Amino acid sequence: MDRDKILLTPGPLTTTLRTKLAMLRDWGSWDSDFNEVTARVRRSLLKIIHAEDTHVVVPLQGSGTFSVEAAVATLVPRDGHVLVLDNGAYCKRAARLTTLMGRRCTIVSFDEAEQVSAQVLDDQLAADASITHVVMIHCETGAGVWNPLPQVAEVCARHRRGLIIDAMSSFGALPIDAREIRFDALVAASGKCLEGVPGMGFVFIRKKVLDRCAGQSQSLAMDLHDQHVYMEKTGQWRFTPPTHVVVALAEAIAQFEEEGGQPARLARYTRNYHALIDGMSRLGFMPFLDPGIQAPIIVTFHAPGDPSYEFKAFYQAARKHGFILYPGKLTQIETFRVGCIGAIGPNEIEQAVHAVALALEEMGIASGEPAING
Ligand SMILES: *Cc1c(COP(=O)(O)O)cnc(C)c1O
Repeated sequence: MDRDKILLTPGPLTTTLRTKLAMLRDWGSWDSDFNEVTARVRRSLLKIIHAEDTHVVVPLQGSGTFSVEAAVATLVPRDGHVLVLDNGAYCKRAARLTTLMGRRCTIVSFDEAEQVSAQVLDDQLAADASITHVVMIHCETGAGVWNPLPQVAEVCARHRRGLIIDAMSSFGALPIDAREIRFDALVAASGKCLEGVPGMGFVFIRKKVLDRCAGQSQSLAMDLHDQHVYMEKTGQWRFTPPTHVVVALAEAIAQFEEEGGQPARLARYTRNYHALIDGMSRLGFMPFLDPGIQAPIIVTFHAPGDPSYEFKAFYQAARKHGFILYPGKLTQIETFRVGCIGAIGPNEIEQAVHAVALALEEMGIASGEPAING
């Protein structure tokens, strides 16, 4: 059957027909109609986190990581020193790209089943005046941890260090208010909780630090300052824009606003999350995280303890029933992940749980229960 499968992944994710249909036209990059779409998207993005007065937003071609890399390259001086709060795979990626770009990088490690600690950060910043910037991941998509953004931002503000937030998998769903949370840069992308298609990221940059960013990036293509200056001057993207991605994002944002914005999106994802946890618990599955630190974005489950379990076969079986699961990303134990995000509701989640039940049955596994002590 050629019906699209439901993507229970952290991006790309399931989009609405309306968003897909927006991509059925060709747009010239110099055309004023297209430039108006870009301008409208930028205005809407600023509104979502109330950043109109304090920040600019600079879109960038590429997947989300391109924008994280661009933010670090543009914001951090070449002799800067970045502290990365690390509780998972995406934190490690941010640290690696920081090092590759020649910036000094210090990693402060936490368990991937725990939040990063603002208290530990406070002590680190007090002890080391050379640290210029802190990088944190708002929702660590590796395990699904919701990290304490307001507390981390307060510590960075008090120590007068720049904060760069990777809000890729939280933007549009978890609350972020730029009037209350001080940050130098915040990075997100088209294909996550805004439910657009993948292909572009965007970085909010604090107006007060923007001028200082000129010439800091060692990369031409990833220079957000240059991209911003050019866009302000011409209304155009510096290099070939991902036109279809931009118009799809505009259409996705229109639906986001109609749904009721961030609070409505969080409410729907929270309903998805509860439907998922309830359904999977009935099948014996156990979530990896303490619910107190779990974001309703993506859930990591322990793999079933049954010796017949194998992720690839499980994935294929669920896929056959129309649902795409996601492998685990933890270093020590066997897990898999299920996303709560995308243009889906609790009905689709219940169907997904049913698909998982059928997959277990076909594999001859009686229960999703993990091995002892999981
Ligand atoms: C999705 C995601 C990214 C970007 O990943 P890409 O594969 O480059 O789009 C970065 N950080 C987090 C926390 C993410 O969830």
